[in-house]
Amino acid sequence: MFKEKLEEWKRVLRNDIGIDLGTANMLVYVRDKGIILNEPSVVAVNQKTGQVVAVGTEAKNMLGRTPPHIVAVRPIVDGVISDFEVTEEMLHYLLNKAQSVSKKILGPRVVVGVPSGITNVETRAVRDATKNAGASEVHIVEEPMAAAIGMHLPINEPTGNMVIDMGGGTADIAVISLSGVISSKNVRIAGDKLSNDIAAYIRSEFKIVIGEKTAENIKIAICSLLPEEDPLETEARGRDLITGLPREVVVTDSDMRDAVSHSIERLVEATKEVLEITPPEILSDIMHRGIHLAGGGALIKGFAKVLEREIKIPVYIADDPLTCVVRGTGIILEKLEQFREVLIADENDISNKTH
Ligand code: ADP
Ligand code: MG
Repeated sequence: MFKEKLEEWKRVLRNDIGIDLGTANMLVYVRDKGIILNEPSVVAVNQKTGQVVAVGTEAKNMLGRTPPHIVAVRPIVDGVISDFEVTEEMLHYLLNKAQSVSKKILGPRVVVGVPSGITNVETRAVRDATKNAGASEVHIVEEPMAAAIGMHLPINEPTGNMVIDMGGGTADIAVISLSGVISSKNVRIAGDKLSNDIAAYIRSEFKIVIGEKTAENIKIAICSLLPEEDPLETEARGRDLITGLPREVVVTDSDMRDAVSHSIERLVEATKEVLEITPPEILSDIMHRGIHLAGGGALIKGFAKVLEREIKIPVYIADDPLTCVVRGTGIILEKLEQFREVLIADENDISNKTH
């Protein structure tokens, strides 16, 4: 009775915060407020002083436009935390924003989604960094699991659920049943790779060097994996390889298919490999229930159709695929007891260990 009252008070006096620490975008959810922040995972650091100059949207706008001593970094590269200190600064920034939206006396309870396949050392670093940033309780969940929860898939039932969460740095392909990952793969072919493919293609076909941001914009605007009824086209502006001067060319959706086809084939292969190691009962669930796409990659035109054609299993795009993970962390916060099993155990906290 007393314990229940205490929990009730804590709920009033502290924030419940969910964080998606993506390779491309970081999102924050605050209980009773919804998603309060959605910004690129970029931090600008002054290398002379070691100080953080800007975080998020402000820092991304600096990409490729900074003087030599200021570097804009993405601390989570290819799903791996490449820079712990900067990641800690990022978490500070996110928690401060969340706390300023809804002021509470106690330190917040936080669920952080991390790329699947991060090491124990990295998990501990995220946990410590979140605690250092003021959290009273930290829970960690793998992103494909959070994405599946965000999509309201019945992950705690004895049935196979398959998700592909294709972000910026990595794509997670996972099969989940009874709150556990049955089979999975984390591949470094995702949004960034496709943007790089497009930049490389434009360089070799049109002899123009384009920037990272330009390549991404072209991808989002006209990349389509199936021929369009009305062909799509856009201008690509960059530097002429021969003259060194600015030049502009028109590129089409057909160029995009040539540019990214190899990477898409590899993604299809990886998906097949996960299915190959999935037990037959679960496989039959998946054939029946389909594959669910989340992350920015889900928005690539024709991706779901191409997967469906190649794998011969229905493919569904999640509602609002870019926010599945953070919405999943929000759902976990609402029913933490029910979702204990999906959290990565804290080796210092025996109460977290269920087996
Ligand atoms: P992460 O979880 O790694 O932070 P996100 O799920 O936020 O990544 O997805 C970011 C990726 O999705 C980027 O590579 C971005 O270019 C890509 N993306 C976003 N919107 C679209 C779109 N409409 N079409 C194609 N790609 C998109
Ligand atoms: Mg993600």
